[in-house]
Amino acid sequence: MPEMRRRGLLIILSSPSGAGKSSLAKRLMAWDATMRFSVSATTRAPRSGEVDGRDYYFKSREGFEEMVAAGEMLEHAEVFGNLYGTPRAPVEARLAEGHDVILDIDWQGGQQVRRSVLAQDVVSIFILPPTIADLEARLRMRAQDSDEVIAGRMAKSRDEISHWGEYDYVVVNRDLEISEAELRVILQAERARAVRQPGLTEFVRGLNREFEN
Ligand code: GDP
Ligand code: ADP
Ligand code: 5GP
Repeated sequence: MPEMRRRGLLIILSSPSGAGKSSLAKRLMAWDATMRFSVSATTRAPRSGEVDGRDYYFKSREGFEEMVAAGEMLEHAEVFGNLYGTPRAPVEARLAEGHDVILDIDWQGGQQVRRSVLAQDVVSIFILPPTIADLEARLRMRAQDSDEVIAGRMAKSRDEISHWGEYDYVVVNRDLEISEAELRVILQAERARAVRQPGLTEFVRGLNREFEN
C-alpha cells in the first residue's frame, strides 16, 4: 500500500469575540488528537487560567515587534488595542508533517494568510452568533473580561461580522454540539478533496497493477 500522507489543512477560524471559536477549536482537537492549535503571540495580558506557551506566547510590545522585524510572523494585526500574531515556523512544520493546524485569528490575519505562500492549504470558516444578545451574554458568561473590555469587543463585533463573505464556510453557533458536527463534516470533505491527496496517483497505479495480474 503506497503512502497516502497528505499535507495538513490550515484551518482559519474567525468570529466576533465570544461567538465560540476557542470552544469549537478545543472540541475539534478532542475529536481528532492529530490536529494542532497554532499558539499566537500577543501583547495582551494573560487571563486567569491562561498558560504562556499553551494559550498564547505573552510578549512585550518590543519582543513582539522584534519577531515581526525578523520575519518570524506568518501574519500579525492589532486587535482591540493589542498586537496578535501567528509564529510562522511551527505552522509550516506541522503542515509538512501532515497535521491539520487551527488558527484562531481575526479577519485581518485571515486576509494575510489567504495571500501567503500557504494559501493552497487554507480552509477558512467564519463563526456567527445566533443573535447579538447571545454574543454579549456569552462574553459576560465567560467572565474573563472587565465591563470596559466587553463593551470594546461588542463595539468591534459589527466590523468583524462584516467580513463573513471572505470565508469558505460560515457556521451559525447556536448549539455547540451541532456546530462541532458541522465543522467535522467540513473538515472531512476538505480532507477528501482530490487535490489534497498527492498519494492518489500512486494508489491508483497500485489498483491498475491488480487489474494486470
Ligand atoms: P477572543 O476573540 O475572545 O478569542 O479574543 P482573543 O484575545 O483571543 O483574540 C483577540 C483578537 O486577536 C481576535 O480577533 C483574534 O482573532 C485575534 N488574534 C488572535 N491571535 C492572533 C494572531 O496570531 N494574529 C492576528 N493577526 N490576530 C490574532
Ligand atoms: P471566542 O473564542 O470566539 O471569543 P469562546 O469560545 O471563548 O469564544 O466562547 C465564549 C463563551 O460562550 C464561553 O463561555 C463559551 O463557553 C460560550 N459558548 C460558546 N458557544 C456557545 C453555544 N453554542 N451556546 C452557549 N454558550 C456558548
Ligand atoms: P482574545 O484576546 O479574546 O484571546 O482574542 C481576541 C481576538 O484576537 C480573537 O478574535 C482572536 O481570534 C484574535 N487572535 C488571536 N490570535 C490571533 C493571531 O495570531 N492573529 C490574529 N490576526 N488574530 C488573532
